[in-house]
Amino acid sequence: MNFSDTWQLENSYAKLSGKFYTPIKPTPVRAPKLIIFNEKLANSLGIDFSYDDDEEALTQIFSGNSLPKNSNPISQAYAGHQFGHFSILGDGRAHLIGEHIAPDGKRFDIQFKGSGQTPYSRNGDGRAALAPMLREYIISEAMHELNIPTTRSLAVVSTGESIMRSSLKEGAILTRIAESHIRVGTFEYANKMLDLEELKALADYAIARHYPELLNQKNPYLSFLKAVITNQAKLIASWMHVGFIHGVMNTDNMAISGETIDYGPCAFMDIFSMNRVFSSIDSHGRYKYGSQAHAAHWNLTKLADSLIPLLSKNMDEAVKLAGSAIDEYANELNHAWISGMRSKLGLFEKEEEDFILAQGLLEWMENSKVDYTETFRDLAYENLSENQIYKSLAFKEWHSLWQARLSRNKRPLKSSHSLMRRNNPVIVPYNHLVEEALSAAEGGNMQPFFALLSALERPFEFSSLNEVFLNSSLDPNPNYQTFCGT
Ligand code: AMP
Ligand code: MG
Repeated sequence: MNFSDTWQLENSYAKLSGKFYTPIKPTPVRAPKLIIFNEKLANSLGIDFSYDDDEEALTQIFSGNSLPKNSNPISQAYAGHQFGHFSILGDGRAHLIGEHIAPDGKRFDIQFKGSGQTPYSRNGDGRAALAPMLREYIISEAMHELNIPTTRSLAVVSTGESIMRSSLKEGAILTRIAESHIRVGTFEYANKMLDLEELKALADYAIARHYPELLNQKNPYLSFLKAVITNQAKLIASWMHVGFIHGVMNTDNMAISGETIDYGPCAFMDIFSMNRVFSSIDSHGRYKYGSQAHAAHWNLTKLADSLIPLLSKNMDEAVKLAGSAIDEYANELNHAWISGMRSKLGLFEKEEEDFILAQGLLEWMENSKVDYTETFRDLAYENLSENQIYKSLAFKEWHSLWQARLSRNKRPLKSSHSLMRRNNPVIVPYNHLVEEALSAAEGGNMQPFFALLSALERPFEFSSLNEVFLNSSLDPNPNYQTFCGT
């Protein structure tokens, strides 16, 4: 017996019409090497490696050279609006190896990314480079530890093959775990390219898989749309709370499950600005920090459009239902945002002015050009005496409003501090730390990557693992950009 026997692979997605996917195997690679393997995640999924933890076996599996038992890999078809323009896409370099059923009965996609060409590759080589795959690994794992819904990373192997990007790079394959890979773009594809029965089958499948409690609703498709809207509003608010900028919020990069998906040129905010953009390809700032809420709204209207044929037989009625569901988004987002901000500021109960208080801090941060994570950390740990910036009149004014609000809490100050410490990370994957770890990894030294990964494992407490990174939390490069050379 080996671990692939404990890897319970099914493929319920392949029961949909064949137009939703193509059966295709990963392309074998020449000289794979296991770079990192997430044993903790494997254990939590109930994949037992104790029979066969031989590195060579893991390497062969995670490179796609030897497929686990019962695996019938497919690549999924989808479409998407990329920076506002509609395209037919699909997994151009990804293979869904199968769906694994965890011990608690939950179903997870196991997907390889960078595993070779597919019918959806267009002009792409089907491959991925090592640094971007490690980037997805570390940032998705950090997001998970920050309690933000996200796909997870199980392993990265290098392929021993060079690929052409801005220069020759080492190829790599990421194994990623997701509640599913059904995207807003999957519904756009079904609506635009397939017939009504196929669209309905996709919606029924997505509801049964992600929102089974809605199956008995009077109009399950409307309830589904509303549930996705709520989950996306919560997700975007949680990104904003930690200063995360996704960078490519195209409709093909938005998952129906409400998980963060497709980490490309994403980054964490350092110096706070609503206009912060890191991605070199986002030249108009479509997906800048302060536009993410709007971008998600735009994407959700594309989902609503795609579902219209299912909402009612009467077209006018269907459009009205879709519109009123979408109109709820702003409330959902504001609600999620302000409740998270209350926790970040240690506020119990609700006061209407809390919104102004939170906005006031952000405005001060933007004007004072201070680090986002560090400012909240200083508030949570009462570390305001050392830094001159907190002596400014503008800060003192805000601070006295905040103190007055804290004093109106019905619970003691101690409870506010512990609430804040549970909601303000000490550390996030700062860009320059990630870049340093990745360039060492490209040079063959994984130690900085492992050290940073460990530091990010418990982001809500000071520890010997993360304190070494906290002295250097400011990025020495204020013009830092992320590139899409994935
Ligand atoms: P992304 O920007 O990673 O979300 O990818 C957008 C689309 O391009 C998806 O359909 C990907 O599968 C496809 N794609 C990205 N990189 C490659 C590549 N190297 N080879 C083939 N397809 C790719
Ligand atoms: Mg994508």
